[in-house]
Amino acid sequence: MHWTTDLAIYREALRAEKIAVARWDFKSDRAYGDSTMRSLFPDHITDGPYSEFLLRCPKLHPNDVKFFEALIRFIQTPHHEYAGKSHEIPVDFRLMEMENQEQWFHAHFIIHFEKEWPRDATLLLRSTNSEHRRDEALRQKAERDALTGLYNKGHARELIDEALAVPGTTKALLVLDMDGFKKVNDNLGHLFGDAVISDMALSLAEVFAPEDILGRVGGDEFVVLMRDAHNRDKVIARCEKLRDMLRRSFEYAKGQTLNVSGSVGIAMSPEYGVSFEPLFACADKALYEAKRQGRDTQVFYTDELKEGEKKNMEENAIAEGRQALLDHPVEFIFRMLYETRNPRITVETLLALFAKYFMVQRVVIYQTHGENPGCWFEWNADGTLPAEKAHEGDVGEFLNRSYRKEIYGQFLEFADTSKISGKMGKLLPGRSIFALLYASVMDGDKRIGCVGFEDCRAPRIWTKREHEILRTFADILGTFLIDQMHYKMVRRGYRRLQGVLDAITGPLWVVATDNGHIAYMNRATRAMLAKSTNEETKNCYKVRTDTNRPCVRCEYAKMHANCPGAIPLREEAERRGLVPIPIRWNSGLDGHLYLIEK
Ligand code: GH3
Ligand code: MG
Repeated sequence: MHWTTDLAIYREALRAEKIAVARWDFKSDRAYGDSTMRSLFPDHITDGPYSEFLLRCPKLHPNDVKFFEALIRFIQTPHHEYAGKSHEIPVDFRLMEMENQEQWFHAHFIIHFEKEWPRDATLLLRSTNSEHRRDEALRQKAERDALTGLYNKGHARELIDEALAVPGTTKALLVLDMDGFKKVNDNLGHLFGDAVISDMALSLAEVFAPEDILGRVGGDEFVVLMRDAHNRDKVIARCEKLRDMLRRSFEYAKGQTLNVSGSVGIAMSPEYGVSFEPLFACADKALYEAKRQGRDTQVFYTDELKEGEKKNMEENAIAEGRQALLDHPVEFIFRMLYETRNPRITVETLLALFAKYFMVQRVVIYQTHGENPGCWFEWNADGTLPAEKAHEGDVGEFLNRSYRKEIYGQFLEFADTSKISGKMGKLLPGRSIFALLYASVMDGDKRIGCVGFEDCRAPRIWTKREHEILRTFADILGTFLIDQMHYKMVRRGYRRLQGVLDAITGPLWVVATDNGHIAYMNRATRAMLAKSTNEETKNCYKVRTDTNRPCVRCEYAKMHANCPGAIPLREEAERRGLVPIPIRWNSGLDGHLYLIEK
């Protein structure tokens, strides 16, 4: 078969693609279109000067006039760089059709030069409406919530972050949630529920200013950024107006009504944050407080709420912690310390938890050696003396002398202090210390501190479980907290930490800070990695190097093909968004500890 370049083929192709072709002669400033131009873009045909037609076309979108002005300037000036060649200029522009509907076009000017002067141009023109609509639909889909048309959470977050980054004005972030919405769904159906949510979105749009950012967080929860919240009364007025609109009753059966309303949590910026995340967390807590106060109200986030939050954290931890502490004590304590942003509050929370769980009236952590000996943390039940008072005089010294060694470290234990011979037998009960159990925090063979329980109500026999928990806590404190507080490194802690890490049922590992290599994997990690090689029982370092110690300069992260540690753990941690906690090994190695969620 022969292939002939036939002009008709090109014509056919251009027609099929609905591409119109025209020629524009600059000298005469006249343009001649082909048949497609005539049939598809009849408006684009003119007998007059074409440059004037381009500039004066009344339908041209005002924002796009500048393209054609630039084009005409270009063709009216010489261009040495294109002398004897051609140059292409693409332009996307809009014509305003009836009812101000935008129609998009793509014009491609191929400009030919005679020496340095533009001589004429071939113009390819096509409609790009459908592409623009598709792009627009995709953009809408990515940015908007389908039900309400407001921004979805992801896009709202981006816009709000941008707005918050602009300094100089007071802004307010509001989180709004319908009260009693579940009942709407349950009694009137999901579709009706959808309508109520859409309606709420309309109310929001009506109440807030056009420049405010409105988004749907999910379900019946919305977020609003008020860009101008200088006037607090205005913020309150907006909330009240919105609440008036949201407060409604629905009769879902004869004589059966259900009521809905709206609650709002508000956090001011820059006071409580200049980015979405922290501000949203504050507004969300204020919303929680609004719900707690009985709903249909607005609450501003304040410092007092922050204080209350600390208390709540304690209460929640106590409520939730009981079972976890019972089931997996090591893991629980470790996790509490690991996840905290504020070790002090967490340690205090743990002490309160122990106190409630073991029904003791005083829990203390003492440092007995080092630069700052004394009581670091204490929890005292109402009506009991502070540790300083309870232990003053010779008590501390007596306690220090009375430790005894057990398999799992040193303990100090009295079931009934009145049975102690001599002065202490009177002094301790006199200060309402009737029974006590202390576990030592060790640095090698040296005791450097202790964690203790005291019963200030009656003598008691300390159980095995109480011994275990106290031991675990003392060990973990020894390896984490003492170090965090710049106490001298605990020399043998390496081994002990290893024991603690291995006791945790979830996988975790330590990455050395200096070179990023894996310094240690706990048993669960080793089991996880060994699955593919059927080496569950062996340590990865045993498998690889046949040594009994984890290699300090472990290269697992570099992916050895035949190594069970071939998974690049550090990347895995990054993928999961795990936040490393700094850890210091007693061998002198600095590292980061990663804990995988179970
Ligand atoms: P509260 O005052 O504590 O907010 O009580 P509430 O009944 O409003 O409870 P909550 O806000 O927790 O309930 C939100 C419900 O919204 C839960 C979910 O079933 C429902 N939901 C989530 N998304 C949609 C949706 O797109 N359409 C409908 N109809 N319901 C939704
Ligand atoms: Mg709700």
